[in-house]
Parts: sequence; structure tokens; C-alpha cells
Amino acid sequence: MRGRFAPSPTGPLHLGNLRTALVSWLQVRAAGGEWLVRMEDLDRVTSSVEHEVDQLATLAALGMRSDIDVVRQSDRFALYYDAIATLQRLGRVYECYCSRREIREAAQAPHAESDAYPGTCRGLSAARLAELRRAGRAPALRLRSDGERFGFDDMIAGHFDGAADDVVIQRNDRVPAYNLAVVVDDAAQGVTHVTRGADLLASTPRQRLLQQLLAIPEPRYAHVPLVVATDGTRLAKRHGAVTLVELAVRGVPAQRVLEILLTSLGTAVGSPNDSDFAIEATPRAPWRAQDSIDLR
Ligand code: GLU
Repeated sequence: MRGRFAPSPTGPLHLGNLRTALVSWLQVRAAGGEWLVRMEDLDRVTSSVEHEVDQLATLAALGMRSDIDVVRQSDRFALYYDAIATLQRLGRVYECYCSRREIREAAQAPHAESDAYPGTCRGLSAARLAELRRAGRAPALRLRSDGERFGFDDMIAGHFDGAADDVVIQRNDRVPAYNLAVVVDDAAQGVTHVTRGADLLASTPRQRLLQQLLAIPEPRYAHVPLVVATDGTRLAKRHGAVTLVELAVRGVPAQRVLEILLTSLGTAVGSPNDSDFAIEATPRAPWRAQDSIDLR
């Protein structure tokens, strides 16, 4: 088995990221598999090598190191363009000229389901497309979904069922989009177990559709519940010390953070390498960090 942690190097890792990384790492260690770190730095404006170095150092401080060389998505565009070309050959790609604002407004229309794209550009006529191209507007590329639904057994969340929508696969600045790149990379890197934050659970049906169209095997999924503050919102900077460096300043060393995270997962504190960690036993409820650690 092969697992992975795929952060975006856009800032320091916080307790939520670290807890998710730890679940993935423990899962792989308990199975004697390989664990890798991949830098999801598609967005060159928000990503930086400094954050990358800092994130890897933070993981290492908790004993987590990639078993193979760390790859960067920014080095792998050719692979993503190949996958996009495959989807185009299948007739599953269309140009989308919507601005974020147009999408937001359309999504607020009655009966629009959650954040799914309302399909505005799906049926543009050849004349309208020619007009938009002449006007110099750069399109994003979207996947043409066909109402496909996907169900799967998540190792933590249990059975999940959801619809794929017309997800963006290439942004209008020609940068491949997250959902496309993550699917291509997990397959190219032989990842068998995708363990990540629960915020991505709802995106999994989109990724399942991409896997099906690209003839990529389906990995096992585990979505780790989020870390929340006492007010129930997702833990963030405003709640106090949320990174390893900030916690160290308040006198909580890395080893203590590791113990607290392990305890929150119901795992024995000691040598996590030898643990008989069972990912299925990960608590399904969000973890309230402040119950165990003083962030102020
Ligand atoms: N890069 C994504 C993030 O940092 C995670 C992607 C994934 O694990 O599938 O939120």
C-alpha cells in the first residue's frame, strides 16, 4: 500500500493539517507501506519554496518523512495536459467563459444544488463561442459530466454517495486545476490510499468520474474529520497558536503536540511506529483542539 500527504505550500501547516498527515502516516506505517509527500503548488502566486521547506521541516519534527523524493505539481504540467487531451478526445471537455461572480450568482438561483456549476457555458452555440474567442476572453476548461453518481466506502466517514458535476479541469490562465492534477498524480505515483481532510469528501465523486474516464484505478479513501475551535468553526489563526512554531513559543514542544494529536486519535502514546493503528477507529466527530491544548 502507498499513502500520501499532499499539502499546498501556501503557509505553515496547522494542527488540522498535522492531524490529517498523522492519520495517513500511521495508516501506512501500521501496514508496512510507503508514505509520500507531494507539494500541490499549482498556484504559483500563493505557493513558495520557503513554505515548502517549512512544511517539510514541520512534518519531520513530528517524525514524518517522505519515503520517496518529494514531487512538485508545478514540475508536472505535461502529465496534466496529456490527461486533459484524453478527456477532450472523449468529447468530455468544454470551454467556460464565466467569471467567478457569474457562477456565484447563478448558483444562488432557486434549486441550484450546493456549489455545483450551473452549466451556463455547456451549450454555447458555435457563433457565440466564436464571438467570445474574438473578444479575446480566455476560457477555463470544464469536464462535461452526465449526471453520474458515485458511492464509495470511506474508511472513516462510512458510505458516501454524491454526484459529479462539471468541474474545472484547467483554469483560464492555462494552469491545470486541483481535481484533475490530484487524480493524475495519485495514479502516476501508485497511491492506493488517499487519506485527507473531510473538506474534500464532497469533491470525491468528481474525482471518481475523472478516474473512470481516464481509466485510473480507484484508491481507498479516508476523510479525516476537521479540527474545530470551541465555537465549532474550523480551527484558524484567530483562535490562537495553531502552528508548531507558535505552540513552541507558548511552551508546547513538538513532542507534546504529537502526544496530544495521538491521544485525539485514540492511539497509544509511545512509539507510533509500532502502533497497531486502525484507521477505522478514527473518531468521526470533529476534534475540538482547545479541549486538550491551550492555544492562548
Ligand atoms: N492540496 C490539497 C490541500 O492542501 C489536498 C489535496 C488532497 O489531499 O487530495 O487541501
